[in-house]
Amino acid sequence: MKPWILGLTGGIGSGKSAAAEHFASLGIHMVDADHAARWVVEPGRPALARIVERFGDALLLPDGQLNRAALRERIFKAEDERRWLEQLLHPLIGQEIASNLAQAQSPYAILVSPLLVESGQHRMTQRVLVVDTPEHLQLERTMRRDQVSEEQVRSILKAQALRDDRLKHADDVLLNDGDLGHLHQQVERLHQFYLGLRGGQP
Ligand code: ADP
Repeated sequence: MKPWILGLTGGIGSGKSAAAEHFASLGIHMVDADHAARWVVEPGRPALARIVERFGDALLLPDGQLNRAALRERIFKAEDERRWLEQLLHPLIGQEIASNLAQAQSPYAILVSPLLVESGQHRMTQRVLVVDTPEHLQLERTMRRDQVSEEQVRSILKAQALRDDRLKHADDVLLNDGDLGHLHQQVERLHQFYLGLRGGQP
């Protein structure tokens, strides 16, 4: 039977990747939307050619890869350019995710995405798991992981969906306020529950 799809989301530093990796270690096929977003602009893919056509090859690094920082800079204050880029990339990212998920051999598969709800990617899933973490822990863990300032993390937090909006879309919530062992235990409990579902429903 075709695997059903679990969407996994949460704010920055909530522990999405840590949770997703543990599901993967239990044999569950996992696709990361951030990775798909990077694959679609790899050298040789049509999206990169379109971007260079529009913005010039100043957006390429010496090795032919996309210079993400330069692109971010170009669209930062240019609403039209940002929209153009989204219209180019969103469908491609969606296709990339769908074709990767279609290869899943596990009983269910996971799409992990920081912007699952905001991007509409939750419509590709049958069930949504939100990793919910008190903000002070999100800040602390992200600052430690990325070596960034509190101010930088706060500005990213502000650009993401509000905690309440995200939770409104949740079928299941994993509260990641303990240690990693506790996170893993909760993942294992959810995994047992998910194995008993058909099409993501009890
Ligand atoms: P996200 O993918 O949501 O941005 P990560 O899974 O990368 O978040 O977690 C952020 C950082 O916090 C990582 O370095 C991760 O190892 C760490 N982390 C996640 N959960 C816990 C936890 N329960 N206890 C301690 N560290 C954690």
